[in-house]
Amino acid sequence: MTVSNDILNKIKKSNCSHDETFFQAVEEVLDSIAPIIESDPIYERHSIIERLTTPDREFKFKVVWMDDNQKIQVNTGYRVQFNNALGPYKGGLRFHPSVNNGILKFLGFEQILKNSLTGLPIGGGKGGSDFDPKGKSDFEIMKFCSAFMTELHKYIGPRIDVPAGDIGVGAREIGYLFGEYKKITSTYDGILTGKPFMFGGSLMRPEATGYGCVFFTDEMLKLAGKDDFKGRICAVSGAGNVAIHTIEKLYDMGAVPVTCTDSRGTIYDPRGINLKLLKELKFKKRVSLEEYCKEHSEAIYTKVEDYPEGGHEVWNIPCDCAFPCATQNELTEVDARNLIENGCISISEGANMPSTPEAIELFQKNDILFAPAKAANAGGVAVSEFEMAQNAAMIRWSYEKVAKMLEQTMREICKRVHLTAKEYGVAGNYVDGANIAGFKKVADAMIAEGV
Ligand code: NDP
Repeated sequence: MTVSNDILNKIKKSNCSHDETFFQAVEEVLDSIAPIIESDPIYERHSIIERLTTPDREFKFKVVWMDDNQKIQVNTGYRVQFNNALGPYKGGLRFHPSVNNGILKFLGFEQILKNSLTGLPIGGGKGGSDFDPKGKSDFEIMKFCSAFMTELHKYIGPRIDVPAGDIGVGAREIGYLFGEYKKITSTYDGILTGKPFMFGGSLMRPEATGYGCVFFTDEMLKLAGKDDFKGRICAVSGAGNVAIHTIEKLYDMGAVPVTCTDSRGTIYDPRGINLKLLKELKFKKRVSLEEYCKEHSEAIYTKVEDYPEGGHEVWNIPCDCAFPCATQNELTEVDARNLIENGCISISEGANMPSTPEAIELFQKNDILFAPAKAANAGGVAVSEFEMAQNAAMIRWSYEKVAKMLEQTMREICKRVHLTAKEYGVAGNYVDGANIAGFKKVADAMIAEGV
C-alpha cells in the first residue's frame, strides 16, 4: 500500500501543472511594463504579451536509469524552449526533487528578459529533472546524466539551444552530460556551457554569477551615492555555486560576509565566513553546514525547523547588504521587515526570484535598494555566452579578459536598468527598470522578425 501510494504521489506530482511561480513572475513583469503597453499600441497589435508568455515549445520526457542496487529508477526530464528572438535558447538545467514544469516555465520566462538585458545574442530557455543528486554515488550521477542526455540531445545544438548548470548541476554533471552527447552524436560541439576548463569551459564561468552580483551591487551603491563595500557586513544565503562566489568577491571588495545557509540550516559567523572551509564542506565533501561548527565553535548554527515562523534566521541577522543566493521565495515579508528594521540598505538577488512579491513591495516602500535577479545574477549567463563564443571560434580567452568583460557587462546592465527606470518615471525602481529594458529589446526583435 505504501509503495503504491508513493508511486501515485510521484505520478500526481509529475502530471500537475504547478504554474503558480510562473504566474507570479508574469504578473510582476506585466505590472512593470503596463505603461509601455498602454502608450504604444504596436505591442498589442502584435500580441506580444501572449507570444512572450507562451513557450515556443516544451519537452517532457522519461528518464530511466539503474541505481547502484540494480534497481531501475524513473524520473521526469524537461526542457522549455521559451523564446529565441535574440539568439539560441539559453538557460540552465536544474536537478532537484522540487522541479516541475511550472518552475521551469517561470525560470525560462525570467531567462528571456535576463538574457536580453546582457545585450548578448541569446534567447531564453530552462530545463531539468526531479532527480535528486543528494546522496547519490558518482556512478549513479553519471548513469542518470547519460540517460537524461539520451533524450535531451534531440532538442539541443550550438545554434539551437545551449543548456548550462543550475541547482544540482555543476561541473561534474555538465561533464557527464557533455560526454554522453559526444558519444551519441560523435561531435565535439559547444552544446553546454559551464563545462570544465579542460574540455571547452570558460575561465571564470564558475565564479561569474556570484562575482557579477557583487559588481552589480557595487555599481548600484555608487549610483545611489553610497559608500562602497569596505567594512560592510553582508548576509548571504545559500552555500552553493552562487553563494560561495558571492562571498568570495565580497571579501575581495573589503566586505565582511557573516552568513551562509543550506537546505538544513544557517551559519552565522560574526568574524566572517571561513571561505576555505565552506568550499571544502560544500564543493569537496558535499556535507551539511552543521559541520562548519566543528572547526569554528564560535559560529552559530540554526536548524531550519528552529527558524522563526514565516521567516528565516539568515535575514534576522543585522547586516548592511543582503544577498539571497539559494532558491525562489526564500525571503518573505517577515524577513524583509527584519532586514529593514536591522538597517539593511540593499538587497541583491543572486538566486532566481528569491524574494516574495510582498517582500519586494516592502523594500520599495522603504526606499531600500533592490536589485532583482534578472539583472543582478545575469553574470552567469553572460560568461556562458562568452563560453559559446570561445567554443565557436575554437579559442580560449585569458582569465583577465573574461574578468574584465564580466565586470563591464554587469556595470553596464546596472546603469541601463537605472537609466530606464529614470526614463519611465520610476527612478530607483530596479524591478521596473529591468523588466522594461529587457522586454523592449525582445519585443522589438519579435516585431521585426514577423509572425
Ligand atoms: P547550487 O546547487 O550550487 O546551490 C544551491 C544552494 O541553495 C545550496 O546551498 C542548497 O542547499 C540551497 N537550496 C536549494 N534549494 C533549497 C531550498 N528549497 N531551501 C533552502 N535551501 C535550498 O545552486 P546554484 O548556487 O547554482 O544556484 C542558486 C540559485 O542561483 C538558484 O536560484 C539558481 O537558479 C540561481 N542561478 C544560478 C546560476 C549559476 O550560474 N549557477 C546563474 C543564475 C542564477 P543544499 O546544499 O542543502 O542542497
